[in-house]
Amino acid sequence: MVTITIEEREFIEGTIKECKECFAGMIDTDGLPYVIPMNFGYKDDVVYLHSGPEGTAVRSLESNPSICITFCTPSEITHQHEEVACSYRVQGSSVICRGKVTFVEDFDEKVEILDILMAQYTDRPFKYSDPAVRNVKIWKIPVDKVTGKIFGVPYKESHHFKKD
Ligand SMILES: Cc1cc2nc3c(=O)[nH]c(=O)nc-3n(C[C@H](O)[C@H](O)[C@H](O)COP(=O)(O)OP(=O)(O)OC[C@H]3O[C@@H](n4cnc5c(N)ncnc54)[C@H](O)[C@@H]3O)c2cc1C
Repeated sequence: MVTITIEEREFIEGTIKECKECFAGMIDTDGLPYVIPMNFGYKDDVVYLHSGPEGTAVRSLESNPSICITFCTPSEITHQHEEVACSYRVQGSSVICRGKVTFVEDFDEKVEILDILMAQYTDRPFKYSDPAVRNVKIWKIPVDKVTGKIFGVPYKESHHFKKD
């Protein structure tokens, strides 16, 4: 990934850490946009996803590996005046990562990545059965471009950056 300042890295990694799911956008085999919610893992500028071995998403990415992954923290609703509609704001932080998917085939690397995925959700250690590891499709996405934004705060406090 490109060089980013520590403040920006903290924002990106803090936002991603707060999320429980992401939205993975791709181009399907008809050339149309296709976006699905997914669980994820993240470590050292790489996003990891996992799925069953087949399906629309896997077929789409085999034909075009470009992917756009959006993370959005749980949002909060605030208002300045309860009776004024345009003073209502939904506040949240989001990060968009772009890259290309490769599917990991190596057994030991798959296990390491399953640990990264589980670490997003729990500190508990896990063991995985051999068939489970063989059957799971592991998506590896080194992040080529990343942008972040805080949404819904007053303009002077807003924060928007783009690095690519
Ligand atoms: C919070 C959350 C987390 C999830 N995490 C994961 C994950 O980590 N890994 C994983 O593999 N799946 C996860 N899913 C399910 C995922 O969103 C897809 O449904 C699943 O991966 C199947 O995708 P597919 O492209 O193979 O669909 P297919 O089985 O090929 O789907 C056939 C058709 O069903 C429709 N469809 C598929 N998925 C959805 C959907 N989510 N919502 C509405 N319509 C749909 C589409 O129109 C698609 O063309 C998660 C879902 C949720 C809600």
